[in-house]
Amino acid sequence: MSRAGDVSRAGLDGRLGGQAGGGDPASAPCGECAPAERAAPGAGGRWLVAPGVELLGEYSGSGFKENPYLVRRADGRMVQVSRLLYHVLVLLADDTRSTQAVALAASWNWGRRLGVADVDFLARSKLLPVGLVLEGSADRAGELLQQGPPAAAAPGVLFALRHKVTLLGRKRVRFLAWLLSPWFTPAMVVAVLGCLGFGEAWLFGQGHALYLGVHDLLANPVLVLATFAILVASGGLHELGHAAACRYGGADPGAIGIGLYLVWPVFFSDVTSSYALSRRSRVRVDLGGVYFNCLGVLATLGAYQAWHAPFLLIAALVQEAAALQQLMPVLRLDGYYLVADLAGVPDLYARIGPVLASLRFWSPAPRRAAELCVRARAIIVAWVAVAVPIMLGGLGIFVASLPRVAPETATSVGGHAELAYHAMLAGHPALSAVSALDVVVLMLPIAGVSLGLARTGRLAGRLALRGAGSLVGGPSRRSAQVPT
Ligand SMILES: [Zn+2]
Repeated sequence: MSRAGDVSRAGLDGRLGGQAGGGDPASAPCGECAPAERAAPGAGGRWLVAPGVELLGEYSGSGFKENPYLVRRADGRMVQVSRLLYHVLVLLADDTRSTQAVALAASWNWGRRLGVADVDFLARSKLLPVGLVLEGSADRAGELLQQGPPAAAAPGVLFALRHKVTLLGRKRVRFLAWLLSPWFTPAMVVAVLGCLGFGEAWLFGQGHALYLGVHDLLANPVLVLATFAILVASGGLHELGHAAACRYGGADPGAIGIGLYLVWPVFFSDVTSSYALSRRSRVRVDLGGVYFNCLGVLATLGAYQAWHAPFLLIAALVQEAAALQQLMPVLRLDGYYLVADLAGVPDLYARIGPVLASLRFWSPAPRRAAELCVRARAIIVAWVAVAVPIMLGGLGIFVASLPRVAPETATSVGGHAELAYHAMLAGHPALSAVSALDVVVLMLPIAGVSLGLARTGRLAGRLALRGAGSLVGGPSRRSAQVPT
C-alpha cells in the first residue's frame, strides 16, 4: 500500500497556528496575520487554487487536539492545513470571486475582520510555498489554470518508493475496486475468516502432504517458478484489497503499480484519498491487503482440493508468511499504517523525538508532541517500545553477521550464477530461471540493507551539521514536512 506523496504542512507551524487558547487560527487577530507594511495585491490581482488541487476535508479521528484539514495536490502529495487556511482555499476555489470578495466571505464566516491584505498574506506565505495556489490577474486566470501545477519543494524521504511504474490505471482500478468491494460486507468478512480458521486447522494436519510439497519443490524447478508466480499474483491481489477497501469506505483509489523500495521491487496501490475517510474506514484500508491475501490462501487451498498438487500447500504457507510480514509495524509496511491510523497521526517517525522528549516532566513538551492528544501520544510511545527494538535488533544482528554471511553469500551467488549459465546451455530453461532467481534473492538483502544504511548515514550527517536539536523535538522548521 502506498499513500502517494507525503503529508506536508501549511499554516500549522506559523504564527496563525500557534495562538493561545487551543491554537484556533480563527482567534488570530487580523492585524497580526497581515501587518500594515505587507502590501495587498495590485489592482486586478487575485489568487487561484492550483489546477488539480483537491480539498479533501477534515482529517477526522485524528490524534491532534484539533483535527487538521487535508488537501491533495495534483502530484498526489498531501498537505495538512489549518481550518482557516482550508476555508480560504474553499473560497478561492470559486474562481469567480475576487480577493476582496474572498476576504469579505471569510470575515462573514469567521466573525472577525479579514482584509484583502490578510488573504494575500495567507496565500503568499502559507499556500503558495506548498503549491496550493497561483498568483495572477483576473484576466490571466484562464491561462494560469491551463498551466500545470506550480512546483513546490518536495521533502527528501529516506525510505520512499522510487521509480514507480503504473500497471493498472486509475479508471481500471476504480472499476475493479467497485467490483471487489462487496467482499468487505460484514457477512462476507465473517464467512471468509471462518473459512480461513477451518482451512488453517486442516492445513496443519497435513504433515505428510506438506513434506511431499517440499520434496516436489526441491525436485522440480518448474514448481518453484509456479510458486513464485502465485506469490507475485498474491502481491497484486493484496493491492487490490487495499483499493477495494478504500472504495467500500467511500473514497476513490488511485493507480496500482510497481516500484523500488530501496532495492526490492514491490507493488503499491495509491490509497491517499483514504485520508478523507473515518478512522474505522482507514483501518479497513490498512487491513484490506492482508484480508485479500486470506482470499488468495483459500483459493490456493481450493486448488489443492481440485488437483492434489502438494506444492500448492507450500504456496499457501508462503502467502501467509508474506501477509504476516506486512503486519509488522516497521518501515512502511501495512502494520506501520495501521498504527498511524489508530493513533491518528500520519507521520509517526517524525513524532518519535518530540513525543519521547515530552515524557521529561521537568520541561515543557515540544510543540509537535503537545499538539497531539494523550491517546495518540500513548500509542506512539507503545509503538516505539515495540518497533524500535525490532528494527535496531534486526539491523544489529544483520550487521554483526555480515562478516560471516557476506563471503558465504558471494560463494553461493557464484555457484547459482554458474548453475544458471550451464543449465541454460544444457537446455533446462526452468532450472536456469530458478538459479537466476536465487542469485537475485541472495543479493537483495545485502544490497538493500547497505543502501538503507548509506542513506541513513547521509541523513544523519546532514542533521548533525544542522544541529541535533531537531532530532529531539527542537523548534520546528520546514522539517515539518513529514513523511507518512
Ligand atoms: Zn499492503
